[in-house]
Amino acid sequence: MNPEELNRIETRLHALREEILRKQDEAEDDKSPVELDQSRVGRLSRMDAMQQQAMAQALDRRRETHLKRIEGAFIRLQKGVYGDCASCKKPIDAKRMDADPTAFFCIACAERAEKR
Ligand SMILES: [Zn+2]
Repeated sequence: MNPEELNRIETRLHALREEILRKQDEAEDDKSPVELDQSRVGRLSRMDAMQQQAMAQALDRRRETHLKRIEGAFIRLQKGVYGDCASCKKPIDAKRMDADPTAFFCIACAERAEKR
């Protein structure tokens, strides 16, 4: 990969991270403990509130995972191994990297890992 490409990827990863951090901030409100206040029942039942909270937590975990993958991509960029499969060390297909800039296995290795 040439320096311009690497630069573009770094910019994209930064943008991705910013976006996730922003969403995480916005989601902070949804994570507040479920309110047991009876006055709220009716407008939003306790069940609904709990369901919403569970959904917010699931989203949060997904964001955490995504953030970790982005961090991993930054580390691979620094090491100069970005775009190489973490398993077989062969370059990952450019289209795959474009679809998911945090991918760290080539298609063959990712499929093999899924079957395991
Ligand atoms: Zn591979």
